[in-house]
Amino acid sequence: MVRIECPKCRTKKVYRLGNGKRRCSRCRYDFIPHRLPLYLTRDQWREIIRWFLLEQSSESVSLRTSIERKRYYELLP
Ligand SMILES: [Zn+2]
Repeated sequence: MVRIECPKCRTKKVYRLGNGKRRCSRCRYDFIPHRLPLYLTRDQWREIIRWFLLEQSSESVSLRTSIERKRYYELLP
């Protein structure tokens, strides 16, 4: 299991809030952990969007971005 980290600043020090959310101890960003696709890093998003705009197949996108294909389909149904 991957340790929860802040999607914004990637710090691993996060507080658990009562409603299942987490709050980053550094940038105070509230987020819900392990909810795809928001858990991707900004760089991964940028890559996906870049290749998607170039009309690459999802197969080659997942190869280029090293993101599992299954996950990619969850992003772009
Ligand atoms: Zn943060």
